[in-house]
Amino acid sequence: MIKKFKPYDEVLEILDQAANMLGLEEIDYIRLRNPERELKVFIPVEMDDGSIEVFQGYRVQHSGVRGPYKGGIRYHQDVNMNEVKALAAEMSFKCALVNLPYGGAKGGVKVDVSKLSKRELEKITRGYATLLYPVVGPDIDIPAPDVNTNAEIMGWFMDAYSTLNGKLTPGVVTGKPIELGGSLGRDEATGRGVMLMVREICKRLDMPFEGSRIAVQGCGNVGGAAVKHLHKQGCKIVALSDVSGGISLANGLDIDEILDFLSQEEGRQLKDYDSPGLVRFPCNELVLQDADILIPAAMGNAITSEVAPHIKAKVIVEGANGPTTRDADRILWERGVLVVPDILANSGGITVSYFEWVQNIQSYSWEEQVVNQRLEYIMVRAFDEAWNCAVRMDTSFRMGAYMVAVKRIVTAAKMRGLS
Ligand code: GLU
Repeated sequence: MIKKFKPYDEVLEILDQAANMLGLEEIDYIRLRNPERELKVFIPVEMDDGSIEVFQGYRVQHSGVRGPYKGGIRYHQDVNMNEVKALAAEMSFKCALVNLPYGGAKGGVKVDVSKLSKRELEKITRGYATLLYPVVGPDIDIPAPDVNTNAEIMGWFMDAYSTLNGKLTPGVVTGKPIELGGSLGRDEATGRGVMLMVREICKRLDMPFEGSRIAVQGCGNVGGAAVKHLHKQGCKIVALSDVSGGISLANGLDIDEILDFLSQEEGRQLKDYDSPGLVRFPCNELVLQDADILIPAAMGNAITSEVAPHIKAKVIVEGANGPTTRDADRILWERGVLVVPDILANSGGITVSYFEWVQNIQSYSWEEQVVNQRLEYIMVRAFDEAWNCAVRMDTSFRMGAYMVAVKRIVTAAKMRGLS
């Protein structure tokens, strides 16, 4: 019988292992095994053809020990409670690792965005925001973009919330358009952070950063910005994929031309791009491409135990949330493939979300250079803390990162007098 994949069980496995290595008893961290609040909502929407459709939405608030809940909202046909729970827990650990004063949450709506008009998308967002109104707010729970959501959607969410709240409340979401209180640098922050983490791991492993050969799965907000910044730093993007397929070129793809091509028209995909010498492959084969570094920056579960033995890269930098299954992680560890874990590698987005929220609360905006400098400082500090812990404990980088995070939350809970 095929075992049903449960992302939350996988998170619990990592949590238990980290807690065990920290010498904790279950009683010390039991609150982290259970999300504090799980909400399921039903959003009725009048579609463009006059019919009514009811969409399922979720918000899970995992841990509020260290501050207001924080985490994105994803729109995807596969969204379900177990996945949202796992993603919410990962946000608690991510915020603790980079030491932001937040707890973790995640939300989602089960919908295939490719089948929606813009009007329908807006109605779903406003309906979802209205149903979430009692449990979100600038000092309660602050959503942000995630898979298939963007600044425009955050603007609608903020407007719906503000209307109910009786005043403009920009701090209720981050990742907003700049004109509505968004932060400079937020859009590309996750991708820029991925680039920084590639640079740092190359330094640690004494591998060349400039000229390194990189394969990137995903060309959206994370993958697109990551390849842009890696290319700018002199790395060679030898393979790239999106949902339509993958392309590779042994000497490095012309990233400027590809990004320019994709941005010229809405809906353009990699399958529409062509250039001499280009090799094409199905998108699920991206992880098997010949490269020094692999960056999964699309959906979860991209690296399974079936593909892990065949991965050629020596280093994996997890741009996506949860791209590697536990079984695959064990195989990679045995094979000596180094994994920079998601809660560190993709923490650039949440870090600049935090900056955005701080700017909103102070009604003040920072120059982009200030945002980027502070982002780099915070991420490099978190990298060092996780790395040093992993080295000290003779464990994986992922375990080092989780140990730092779990310890911070458990210590805060104890100081608050929480059991
Ligand atoms: N969705 C992003 C993440 O998974 C950003 C969350 C946020 O900015 O709150 O980290």
